[in-house]
Amino acid sequence: MKTKLATRKVAANRAVVKAAAHTAAVVPLKSRALNFGGKWDYAPALEDFKHIQIAPRHELFINGQFLAPHSGQYFPSINPATEQTLTEIAAADETDVNNAVQAARNAYENVWSKLPARERGKYLYRIARIIQEKSRELAVLETMDGGKPIKESRDFDLPMVAAHFFYYAGWADKLQYAFPGKTPRPLGVAGQIIPWNFPLLMAAWKIAPALAGGNTVVLKPAETTSLTALRLAQILQEAELPPGVVNIVTGAGATGAALVNHPGVDKLAFTGSTEVGKRIAGACAGTKKKLTLELGGKAANILFEDAPIDQAIEGIINGIYFNQGHVCCAGSRLFVQEGIYKTVIKKLRDRIETLRVGNPLDKNTDIGAINSRAQLDKIRKLVQSGVDEGGELVQSRCALPSKGYWYAPSFLTNVTMSHRVAQEEIFGPVLSVMTFRTPEEAFERANNTPYGLSAGVWTDKGSKIFKLVNKLRAGVVWANTYNKFDPTSPFGGYKESGFGREGGLQGLAAYCQVD
Ligand code: NAP
Ligand code: MG
Repeated sequence: MKTKLATRKVAANRAVVKAAAHTAAVVPLKSRALNFGGKWDYAPALEDFKHIQIAPRHELFINGQFLAPHSGQYFPSINPATEQTLTEIAAADETDVNNAVQAARNAYENVWSKLPARERGKYLYRIARIIQEKSRELAVLETMDGGKPIKESRDFDLPMVAAHFFYYAGWADKLQYAFPGKTPRPLGVAGQIIPWNFPLLMAAWKIAPALAGGNTVVLKPAETTSLTALRLAQILQEAELPPGVVNIVTGAGATGAALVNHPGVDKLAFTGSTEVGKRIAGACAGTKKKLTLELGGKAANILFEDAPIDQAIEGIINGIYFNQGHVCCAGSRLFVQEGIYKTVIKKLRDRIETLRVGNPLDKNTDIGAINSRAQLDKIRKLVQSGVDEGGELVQSRCALPSKGYWYAPSFLTNVTMSHRVAQEEIFGPVLSVMTFRTPEEAFERANNTPYGLSAGVWTDKGSKIFKLVNKLRAGVVWANTYNKFDPTSPFGGYKESGFGREGGLQGLAAYCQVD
């Protein structure tokens, strides 16, 4: 990669505009020179997007066709890095949702459930291959619509999207081997509601196992990131998936609620906030609907004195600043063993200064744009509460672009377990640092949250890892690594992080009647 030494000027293409939001409360870093001394500047490396066509208007995808919404209403989808409107998206109302569920029912009864399983598998393989072919275009769109750095959408999201379709394609004609001694049957019509942090990946997590299991789908993407789901609809057309097998209804929360309340839905899969998840659980109680909920998280990274510290710092940085912290399993709490606290804080301070915040289409960018103004406001408010409750904020002094929604990588020290920042999901690039003395104290503190999605343990001792893995109430525990995913591995939460698993055989079982 072409590099040149940094001058103290920020590169011209990254206009310096505003200082970070909480300047007054920020603990100043001691040496500015040290900061720049450790950082090399890169020449801009922008991903080309001019060849990618974005239609000015996007319709609903129902029964294999793109259709105007019943209400005639559209809403804008913006690029959070520029605040420019990319396109208009159709707002589906109850009539549209009803049409989509009907289409899914017809396709289920007349086509999809009648197809030999190996034929269903062929469609899934075909979809996976087209996604691979178009992965660069899809990555650019994901980055433009959602704000995540291109190196993440290109190197993480898209390969994982294709991998999920390939993985479940393989199971489609082997269900009797997936569940030996059982007769797995499809559930029927699956309603699926997804959030904005991994738009295409969440769609893949939900659509691929549903189709492999013989179900049909009505998917509701998040309001701010519908674009790639609609591009996926074009891919489904190209793959000649029979009409109605997958339908996509775009819109806000009310569209999701219409899907939740529709009596023709047999299975509901929701990924999103715990608050909305609880409402959905209430709405489904007493109905025939099977439900899986993938909800929020407040993951703890536990760092022992005997861990390889530099490696751990990289993992912890990845765990919280990856995708701007818009990750349900983000390691937003760090518990450091007391003896290494000072060293760790110094290393964290130095490292956040070297993270590159800016144009998400630049291949060198580490931290892209916050997904929406509403989310940015939420992050600011929660950080302010941390400062008000006595936390000390350390924030990178990186320059933030003038347009768009940005938050500098930050961490809070002096945090106690009762502070809101230690309890509530922040969904932004902000880490809360606390300490512990013994392994018992570590897992007790880590478990002291209503959530239980994921956790990380950093130590040189395998025995400590095994001890903690058994004590941590979290669906996934990573040891000496973080944010590692694979389609064969189930993912899901304990406690208020939801129930049910996605990925692996467990994710397939969620779309099958297995008895
Ligand atoms: P959210 O507000 O709960 O929204 C999730 C989805 O539900 C969106 O499509 C949303 O539509 C829709 N929705 C909103 N209100 C609804 C209602 N009353 N009935 C039915 N659907 C409704 O969550 P978010 O802010 O988009 O996403 C962030 C959350 O997702 C975080 O809490 C994160 O931890 C969680 N998450 C969990 C996992 C996991 O696997 N456990 C993975 C990723 C994200 P609109 O977009 O129009 O509001
Ligand atoms: Mg957008």
